Amino acid sequence: MNISKKEHVKNLVVGCGLSGMVVAERIASQFGESVFIIDKRAHIGGNIYDEKEPETGVTVHRYGPHVFHTNDKQVWDYVSRFTEWHPFMSRVKAVVDGTEVPVPFNLNSLHALFPRTMATRIEGKLIAAFGFNTEVPILRLRETEEADLRQLADFIYEKVFAGYTMKQWGLTAEQLDSSVSGRVPIRIGRDDRYFRDTYQAVPSEGYTALARRMIDHSLIELRLNTNWSDVKETISYDRLFFTGPIDEFFDYKFGALPYRSLDIQFRNLPREFAQSGLQINFPCNYDFTRSVEYKYFMDEKTPHTTISREYPCAYSPGQNEPYYPIPSAENDALYRRYQQLASSLPNTYFLGRLASYRYFNMDQTVEAALQCFAKIETTLNWQK
Ligand SMILES: Cc1cc2nc3c(=O)[nH]c(=O)nc-3n(C[C@H](O)[C@H](O)[C@H](O)COP(=O)(O)OP(=O)(O)OC[C@H]3O[C@@H](n4cnc5c(N)ncnc54)[C@H](O)[C@@H]3O)c2cc1C
Repeated sequence: MNISKKEHVKNLVVGCGLSGMVVAERIASQFGESVFIIDKRAHIGGNIYDEKEPETGVTVHRYGPHVFHTNDKQVWDYVSRFTEWHPFMSRVKAVVDGTEVPVPFNLNSLHALFPRTMATRIEGKLIAAFGFNTEVPILRLRETEEADLRQLADFIYEKVFAGYTMKQWGLTAEQLDSSVSGRVPIRIGRDDRYFRDTYQAVPSEGYTALARRMIDHSLIELRLNTNWSDVKETISYDRLFFTGPIDEFFDYKFGALPYRSLDIQFRNLPREFAQSGLQINFPCNYDFTRSVEYKYFMDEKTPHTTISREYPCAYSPGQNEPYYPIPSAENDALYRRYQQLASSLPNTYFLGRLASYRYFNMDQTVEAALQCFAKIETTLNWQK
């Protein structure tokens, strides 16, 4: 298709990330309609894109480490049509007082950092107050009057939470919206897994292979290196699915929605392993928040290794990537103004993390895209 002159397409999808790929796949396979996908990047997959690092042969996730995890069997079954899985349960550690301990902070972390008698005493009090195998948000634990528990809460707050928050968000823990700070849990149990979901894995041939299979359909046409702003005047459509930033779509007319970005720096090292596991967090040391060694994901056997370090930074459009929406009442109100405009446009669907100004895990992204498709399907059936 030549989009430099006026063209009409049936379904136009802006963004070849997970959201865009799911709706494209559904429309092509279920409606038998043609879909034209554009993406401004040079590759498919959006933020789940992975590739082999040429020097070491290790599969790296270019936009940060991704573990697929869900309790939603429908979502799991849907994504499983496009990939086999390599089972993977993430265990994250943080360096606290020079020792690597599991995070979220749990009873194993407690015993690793405190003298035995003290840890045992605090463990008993935690279980008595909250029960075994429960979670308590850090801010709730800080409200306790009990001296030992209060001391523990202050310790975790200072050594695990406050420094990480400052680096990650550029805000003090007190300035951060309670929807984020209130969620950070302490786990009163021994389960070290980062996620608790029923299904946890990474695609056995990687996310890019999964993405390729998802859009491998004769009715789907893809154009990379193509920005919506460069083609919006020349291309018309019956339906538009927009998965880019919602404020950009409306030319930032109410102002830009703020994001936090990351400078992810990759390093190849001439040794087999660089660290003890996939992800090590550094709440109190260095300027980066976490170090990721990718070969752990798929047990890749290579003589050399690749790690990445994430340096959080401010987002500036065109300069770096919008990674994390910054939750606050003000930003939410700004988003709602855009959302109101969006809802008035006929045959135009805004979906995905950037158009919804929400942090979505991959399973939530897939679920939202499937729901978007289901709504259109219901309307079409109703019209028949
Ligand atoms: C650091 C990090 C780690 C994560 N780890 C996990 C994890 O472990 N597990 C998990 O479940 N989820 C994780 N996620 C979330 C996951 O990345 C998202 O759920 C998913 O990628 C969202 O897909 P999307 O299609 O909505 O957005 P995206 O993947 O961002 O896709 C949007 C696409 O639109 C394109 N686009 C934007 N604007 C334009 C334009 N103007 N013109 C043309 N194209 C445009 C972009 O180039 C991009 O390819 C993580 C997210 C981050 C930031």
